[in-house]
Amino acid sequence: MSANIIDGKAIAAQLRKEIAAQVTARVKAGLSQPGLAAVLVGEDPASQVYVRSKQRACEEAGMQSFGFTLPADTSQGKLEGLLKELNEDTRVHGILVQLPLPKGLDEESALNSVALEKDVDGFHPVNIGRLAQKGREPLFVPCTPAGVIHLLKASTNTLEGKNAVVLGRSNIVGMPVALLLVRENATVTICHSRTRDLPVVTAGADILVAAIGRPEMVRGDWVKPGAVVIDVGVNRVEDASREKGYRLTGDVAYGEAREVASAITPVPGGVGPMTIAMLLRNTLSAAERSGA
Ligand code: NDP
Repeated sequence: MSANIIDGKAIAAQLRKEIAAQVTARVKAGLSQPGLAAVLVGEDPASQVYVRSKQRACEEAGMQSFGFTLPADTSQGKLEGLLKELNEDTRVHGILVQLPLPKGLDEESALNSVALEKDVDGFHPVNIGRLAQKGREPLFVPCTPAGVIHLLKASTNTLEGKNAVVLGRSNIVGMPVALLLVRENATVTICHSRTRDLPVVTAGADILVAAIGRPEMVRGDWVKPGAVVIDVGVNRVEDASREKGYRLTGDVAYGEAREVASAITPVPGGVGPMTIAMLLRNTLSAAERSGA
């Protein structure tokens, strides 16, 4: 069997087009232009690239983009002071604090300082807490996990009752993906670095989500025939044949898994583009919720 390739790039492009049309319509109707503020602390090159691409996407969708770069030795007070100002700025509907923060800064306290109704990354402890509770609704769901669920829904008729295995339990990907899958009534197993016999666990998965940051660790024979595989991993591996000297690869051995799965995301071009589309969707809904 050769799997259907889940084209995250195309799905995200369609979503972004729809979001841009909604932004145009609301501005035409005299409502506010959605605005996103991105706060970057330090000079981590990967974070700079992520923030730039989020800002560009924002502008392409007709939203206002506000960028704030603080030096790596910024104090907690200064960072939280900026967040407080942004909470009060009516042009700003969504605030994202690019993670990870430099050592010495308290991430939880910073995320707690973002107003709940502007938490478009969905990392505020209250939003995450609500995600974990039955019958409670977070105002925002974290973007990469929301993108994973969107891709799954686009590639399988139902998640209900399916055995889902999530590799990884991080705050930003693995755990929220698992919580969202539970909300979709899947039966979820969460794996991590201390899990024993991973290939045996994954072999029972109708849905397999890999978010471990280990290049091509998930082999073809770990995958249940017919499973849907979502590869969140983005890993740089050396490749002298490429101009940049590296290529990007996922956590799944794509060539092998593609022969076994019914559907699979490529890397790049799978989950990655969905993250930004979900951020735009969250920013639009923050603006809509603001009522202005
Ligand atoms: P973290 O490093 O925060 O978490 C990795 C998780 O994988 C941990 O729970 C860890 O277990 C687990 N893990 C690590 N090694 C193994 C192993 N050998 N066997 C089983 N479990 C293991 O990573 P993130 O969650 O932030 O990111 C995961 C991947 O997703 C990365 O490649 C990252 O680049 C990518 N990513 C992609 C995004 C996108 O938009 N496409 C967005 C965010 C991340 P333990 O908890 O025990 O340490």
